[in-house]
Amino acid sequence: MADASPTCPGQDPSVADLLAVRPALSMHAMDGLVLEDVPLNAIADALGTPTWVMSAGTLRARYRRLATALAATDRPVSIHFAVKANDHLAVLRVLAAEGAGADVVSGGELRRAMMAGIPAEKIVFSGVGKSLEEMRLALQAGIAQINVESAEELELLSAVAEAEGQEARIALRINPDVDAGTHAKITTGLATNKFGIPYDRAVELYARAATLPGIRPVGLAMHIGSQIVRMQPYRTAYARLADLVRAIRARGLTVEALDCGGGLGISYRDETEGAPEALAAAIHAELGDLGTRLAVEPGRWLAGPAGVLLSTVILRKQGYDGMPPFLVLDAAMNDLMRPSLYDAWHGIIPLSAKTAAAATEQVHVVGPVCESGDTFGHDRTLPHMEAGSRLALLDCGAYGMVMSSTYNARPLAAQVMVDGARWSVIRERQQVEALWADDRVPDWVEKTLLPAGGGL
Ligand SMILES: *Cc1c(COP(=O)(O)O)cnc(C)c1O
Repeated sequence: MADASPTCPGQDPSVADLLAVRPALSMHAMDGLVLEDVPLNAIADALGTPTWVMSAGTLRARYRRLATALAATDRPVSIHFAVKANDHLAVLRVLAAEGAGADVVSGGELRRAMMAGIPAEKIVFSGVGKSLEEMRLALQAGIAQINVESAEELELLSAVAEAEGQEARIALRINPDVDAGTHAKITTGLATNKFGIPYDRAVELYARAATLPGIRPVGLAMHIGSQIVRMQPYRTAYARLADLVRAIRARGLTVEALDCGGGLGISYRDETEGAPEALAAAIHAELGDLGTRLAVEPGRWLAGPAGVLLSTVILRKQGYDGMPPFLVLDAAMNDLMRPSLYDAWHGIIPLSAKTAAAATEQVHVVGPVCESGDTFGHDRTLPHMEAGSRLALLDCGAYGMVMSSTYNARPLAAQVMVDGARWSVIRERQQVEALWADDRVPDWVEKTLLPAGGGL
């Protein structure tokens, strides 16, 4: 399993191990943990914790490495950033400036991508259940392509496009029935998953699409899952996609575009991260000679390593009967949900150099939310930390802030972006009053609060 469990046995990587493979992070004797050229303690001093910090330089460096790998062949592959991984406007702006397009899965994400200046002709709309309103929005915006995930959706979209007087450029998202070998909750390419069109029905449905009013089939799409670090599942899925292209062409239909999906994995613990060069090679080996336009939709690989979540130890709670103590943080599952949702492992580094060099101990790292699932790590080997110690949870740039909630009436954390030596708040910490600002209490509830006869 690529997404290592927090109870995963074996030696945790040390602070030095974690830093060695994260070029934007460094430890300085005086300044402590530094992201690009910004001491993270300076941000925590100014804003408190929990606070998310995104590194613009890391986003750019990763985008450029991916773009270079994908451009290294005669048939370039365009990049549509999966907005669901991190939809902050500043993040989207940084990527848009590099030339990124967007893969969106809701009307809200479509609006965000356009607000960030990503041109409609670089936006692809995926997702198993687009509402009619979302279809209209996509058609009016004139986006590049709508990835259709079912026969039922194809009929609905045809009706909407016809009513709008538009022609929808569509790709059929195929479910290649390939096991991505990743965590069950982030595998999407098995026949039993809700995603995509069954492989056996694809040719027939493509032919039907070509006859429908308001629909122009331009190609095929697939996305087999997330946090994939081995190339074999991609190879198998792409080979199946190539077979489909040939079968569709044999029916006299045209296939102009292939969307190879996202899913490239990163190194959270000690996995070898998915290499863009290897992905580019797999795409070209299996799909390169079909003469189509090619695209990918990475989210995690671009944004994950670019973000950290700063937190402070509220207290150390003694463990039961000689068991490891609990470090209770001021960040919780409502901020970073991945450990509770996917058993995800995130590296933890103290912000102080002195603390980072302290002798290690076994601890459980938890948040204060009233759920046992609010656990960042079980039996973690970490430098000794006390109440008040600050730390960074690593690799939180994807599926971090976007999954936050206000569960337990915890306001959303502040967000910062660093770029070289400068940093700016990109989202203020939510005020606690904002939590109930949109609540409405009906009159009749008010009345029931009053004692019989009214008055207090
Ligand atoms: C989530 C998703 C992606 C991005 O996945 P990553 O693992 O973040 O790269 C791409 N395409 C589709 C259709 C998705 O649902």
